Amino acid sequence: MKHKTLKGLQDILPPDIAVWQRIERSARDIFKNYGFGEIRLPIMESTDVFIRSIGETSDIVEKEMYTFEDKGGRSVTLRPEGTASFVRAYVEHHLYNNPAPQKYYYMGPMFRYERPQAFRYRQFYQIGAEAMGIEDPKLDAEIIALLSRILSGIGLEDLNFEVTSIGCKQCRPDYRKALKEFLGAKLDRFCSDCQRRFDANPLRILDCKVPSCIEERKGSPPVLDYLCGECEDHFSNLRNYLNLLSVPHRVNPNLVRGLDYYTKTAFEVSSENLGSQSAVAAGGRYDSMVKEFGGPDTAGIGFAIGMERIIPLIKDTIASPSGPDLLFCPLDGKAAEKALVLTEQLRTEGLWIEMNHESTSIRSQMRKANRIGAKNVIVIGDDELKTGKVLLKNMSEREDAKSSLQAGEILTKLRP
Ligand code: ATP
Ligand code: MG
Repeated sequence: MKHKTLKGLQDILPPDIAVWQRIERSARDIFKNYGFGEIRLPIMESTDVFIRSIGETSDIVEKEMYTFEDKGGRSVTLRPEGTASFVRAYVEHHLYNNPAPQKYYYMGPMFRYERPQAFRYRQFYQIGAEAMGIEDPKLDAEIIALLSRILSGIGLEDLNFEVTSIGCKQCRPDYRKALKEFLGAKLDRFCSDCQRRFDANPLRILDCKVPSCIEERKGSPPVLDYLCGECEDHFSNLRNYLNLLSVPHRVNPNLVRGLDYYTKTAFEVSSENLGSQSAVAAGGRYDSMVKEFGGPDTAGIGFAIGMERIIPLIKDTIASPSGPDLLFCPLDGKAAEKALVLTEQLRTEGLWIEMNHESTSIRSQMRKANRIGAKNVIVIGDDELKTGKVLLKNMSEREDAKSSLQAGEILTKLRP
């Protein structure tokens, strides 16, 4: 029987995994500077966690969710993103009782039933951050600066940071009305999805990927013209703070996010080197979501970075993987027992030690030492067992050192 990964899913194997770990380590270090603590959330939730928050008319909910009934007849969904699950946890554990801002980060897989293509998978990984309880745009600026630090910390350059404001409960109705007036006049020229969205959620029409809809919506009223006084101040202060922090950014009034829960600030980071899947990270404010989940009125802001989109941008710079500090090459069964014990003893000293499990000829064991990139080699045969003395071969300098067959002495020779 032959098995393969499901379409749109992939295995991540060594040595590629080293890049993933490097990115995760670097992000964790930076999160610490900014006071973010890690949270691990389940990868499945009750389906309704996602429907209302992400939005019934969003692409994610309409087309992309992995939803199924469990054996108890409950509708569950593999999480398509992290924020809705996070807000569910934030309310469930009354985290709003802690001093604001509460700051959390997560790393893990997300699932969307999309058409697989380059940089677009059905299981993909995100590093995300959420900061809660502060409405002030200084927090927005800190969050965008944090995102920029993480991306530059892993060596990414030439990224475009785009920001906009998409208004709030106060100004959204005016904007919606203006948009409907513009779109309504030529609705029959839009796709059937957009015609359906027109009444339910006309803002979603701005996110439609159908080329004729993109063409038809050109010249639609810009959201920034409809912001209320509070949203306008919030946005201009944010821009001022981003300038103070020297975070290069561009205002993109046409930036539309695929999730309904955003309010005020929305942003996206893209790279020109990823073809049409250019977004590497995105985020925004969600000031009404906690209340909608049954918690107190609490502001929130967050972002998510797509791992599969940043890895191809840095892959060229990975150093080739290193090999073990020491490889034991035993020539027979007795020698192999000695090697087994020494290997275990030296591993407790924090070194990477390997032993050959096949007691073949010295020649073939040396060939293997080269293939795995061993830095040092010790051959153990009858003579070595009898005299208790070995040669420690340094593979790069072709130099030998003498040692006894004792872990302590081998260790000092390995670490001069
Ligand atoms: P896109 O416009 O590319 O579909 P999105 O707006 O759906 O992105 P978000 O929901 O904002 O994406 O998710 C944040 C980030 O997660 C994206 O910027 C992207 O880097 C990554 N991402 C989203 N969907 C996928 C996917 N199917 N495969 C790989 N990465 C993804
Ligand atoms: Mg998408």
